[in-house]
Amino acid sequence: MTGPDKKPGGLVQVVTLGCSKNLVDSEHLSRQLQAAGFEPVHTDAPLKSRYALVNTCGFIHDAKQESVDTILEFLAARRAGHIEKLYVIGCLSQRYKEELQAELPEVDGFFGVNEHPRILKALGGKYREELEGERVPATPPHYAYLKISEGCNRRCAFCAIPLIRGRQRSLPVENILQEAHYLVEKGIKELILIAQDLTSYGTDLYGERRLPALLEKLVIIPEIRWIRLQYTYPAGFPVEEIISLMKEHRKICRYLDMPVQHSHPDILKRMNRSHSREEAVMIIKRFREAFPEISVRSTLITGFPGEGRREFLQLKQFVEEMRFDRLGVFAYSHEEHTPAWRKYTDGISRRAKNYRMQSLMKLQEEISLKKNRNKVGRVIQVLIDGKDERYYYGRTECDSPEVDHEVLIPVDSGPLISGSFYRVRITGAGPYELYARVMPESFPVA
Ligand code: SF4
Repeated sequence: MTGPDKKPGGLVQVVTLGCSKNLVDSEHLSRQLQAAGFEPVHTDAPLKSRYALVNTCGFIHDAKQESVDTILEFLAARRAGHIEKLYVIGCLSQRYKEELQAELPEVDGFFGVNEHPRILKALGGKYREELEGERVPATPPHYAYLKISEGCNRRCAFCAIPLIRGRQRSLPVENILQEAHYLVEKGIKELILIAQDLTSYGTDLYGERRLPALLEKLVIIPEIRWIRLQYTYPAGFPVEEIISLMKEHRKICRYLDMPVQHSHPDILKRMNRSHSREEAVMIIKRFREAFPEISVRSTLITGFPGEGRREFLQLKQFVEEMRFDRLGVFAYSHEEHTPAWRKYTDGISRRAKNYRMQSLMKLQEEISLKKNRNKVGRVIQVLIDGKDERYYYGRTECDSPEVDHEVLIPVDSGPLISGSFYRVRITGAGPYELYARVMPESFPVA
């Protein structure tokens, strides 16, 4: 690795791949860079700049490929003289540092996920602990992700996250509240709580689950209009406490994001998931009974070792029965050093895994289209995220940014203000989007 050759300063482009947890890391790191005298900018394509930091994802095959492709794209920009130095950071770098160093010697440095002080040092700056929790946002000013813990204590057989990010480390409640207030000062109205496993928040730090207690403190911040929970694990999920909090505080979005991964008992066991199909179904049923309009999001994996035709058809039947509101399906990726990698052979072809994935996504598309068509004519509240030439695009409380549906409102309905709430009437539906017009009496609610 080459050391800093000049004083801190100049443009640093920060490129973020992967999930919202990585995005928050980039935002925190950017604030440190800013305080050290640099000019950080979030981007996804090479710019002319002094430094470039590529914050990579190393979770599954496709994400790793995307990270490598991005590094190569930035290396080309460095060779062309557009970037003085290129650093690779984050999950891929944490997982494969030595291999990457050997394969890509022109990269100026590789850093893992918890190495922000070392990154600052390499660039000639100084890390300041007192700024932890501050950030340069990469999201629009009205919403932000708030990471309440790092790492994971579960041991799902397919998952490389515990290898990369380590054991769970919950942030103290006071730090989370401080960061929430900081974000409110920046203008956010929607707070999206994230972690590898929100359900277990607090178990490492307080010896008990503290998600409900944390929510009780967050709901009293008046400027926050929506609080969204993203990534809840079924086992140990405090169902009744969360339901009663949702009932009491309308600002907790009627949104349940609970990855179940599979439904067949043998596959759940092989996956080392500590919940049964029945437990997952019971949780979803309870939430739907309490809030018939709730949006239930989940994720599934196809082609896990041992998934034969029988197990897959049972999974398909499960999707039919559950009628999820939002669903992500992934083809199994046989990740080195995971429990499944050590124990099982990756016996299902890539083609079969993808075929099964597409088959579930097609089924879900039909379910989603029907559900969306049933909404035509209804009046709902949306938060406007932005605009292109034809539409303003917004979201309902049932939709998280980037992963869920959008509500498209023709620009002639405007002008509408990004970051404001409006009442709209649904006029049309596609599988992954709704079309709407603003209600005549609707005025922006800041
Ligand atoms: S809960 Fe399971 S899938 Fe999620 S991060 Fe932890 S080990 Fe991975």
